[in-house]
Amino acid sequence: MNNFNRELSKHLDALYAQGLRRELCRVDSPQGTHIQMDGQTLLNFSSNDYLGLANDPLIKEAAVRAVKKNGAGSGASRLICGSLAPHHELEEALAAFKNTEAAITFSSGYATAIGTICALLGKDDIIILDKLVHACVVDAARLCGAKLRVFAHNDLDDLEDILKWANKNSNPRILIVTESIFSMDGDAAPLCEIAALKEKYGAWLMVDEAHATGLYGKNRHGLAEELGVSSRIEIQMGTLGKALGASGGFICGSRTLIDFLVNHARSFIFSTAPVPAAAAAANAAVQFINSADGEKRRETLWARVHELQLQISNTTSRVRGRKSQIPSAIIPFLIGDESKAVEVATQLRKRGIFVPAIRYPTVARGKARLRVTLTAAHTAKDVSQLVSVLKNLNLEL
Ligand SMILES: *Cc1c(COP(=O)(O)O)cnc(C)c1O
Repeated sequence: MNNFNRELSKHLDALYAQGLRRELCRVDSPQGTHIQMDGQTLLNFSSNDYLGLANDPLIKEAAVRAVKKNGAGSGASRLICGSLAPHHELEEALAAFKNTEAAITFSSGYATAIGTICALLGKDDIIILDKLVHACVVDAARLCGAKLRVFAHNDLDDLEDILKWANKNSNPRILIVTESIFSMDGDAAPLCEIAALKEKYGAWLMVDEAHATGLYGKNRHGLAEELGVSSRIEIQMGTLGKALGASGGFICGSRTLIDFLVNHARSFIFSTAPVPAAAAAANAAVQFINSADGEKRRETLWARVHELQLQISNTTSRVRGRKSQIPSAIIPFLIGDESKAVEVATQLRKRGIFVPAIRYPTVARGKARLRVTLTAAHTAKDVSQLVSVLKNLNLEL
């Protein structure tokens, strides 16, 4: 082994020793409730495909049609080679769906956060994050150069203290960023109260609805709709790769915000446009979610979530206490120790169930967990099978 590889493998060995080494597990089937891994069929509780759209014929056919009509590739950045129709159709659909003046899409949620936050803030500004926001927001906050402050998870008093401090600075832009449903805990942010604080202190608010788009609100716009605060959020972010079953990220907001991002969001400007198939698939998913079938699909998801909650409270000793009453398709089983979490995930896999062990740096050290996600494609039987395996493992969860 040469010095270069020796140096790197030292670090990989150290990760392994801490239960933190990660490896890709090849899947030979599409995403779905049953996946093929190493010749074994596993019941899958790991994906964010909450509405079961990733392998839905409707969505797939939209992608195939776009390949035939608009090609496989997109050529260049949308500002360089012209902007393909499927991207415009998707953005119009998103703006209509979310009731905003305009929308812009990016190649991923990660690129959305990086591009948007770095466009809006610079070194004279202040960014305030919930402790548990996604890594892409943390990375964006660091990259933009603004002063970074973090408030304790969902802690309004802590947030207000920081806002008071921020107001003492000389007229900076102040941006608060939170998620609506948190990706690794499945709990909800108090968006009304946060919106009230940002108004009181003249800050702006960005809400990442990656795990809520399509699932909450009368029209399934997200948690902001459910809580009636959408119009008070300057920057409404979402992703296209979770409940929408495709890939990409988006911002919905005022026409001015979107025009501003087209001119300043570097991850948009300096990146090849997503392939037409991705935009068309996402657009078909928006149409589906907007329909009566979308509502039915969502109800199926909540039925499964309810079944799991009921059976778990009857069997396993302890599920992480949840303060918010808002249901979520993300059900974490806190284990704590990283190696133990890996061990339990391995045991589950031996019994035909795939649940990921989520560890540092995705969550804090010592907060490793099994993250179960349910989808509308799961059946009641799938849920019972998961519970019975968890029960047989006799875990002290
Ligand atoms: C998944 C996720 C992202 C990133 O989106 P990608 O499209 O996967 O890059 C951003 N924010 C949150 C909260 C997420 O869970």
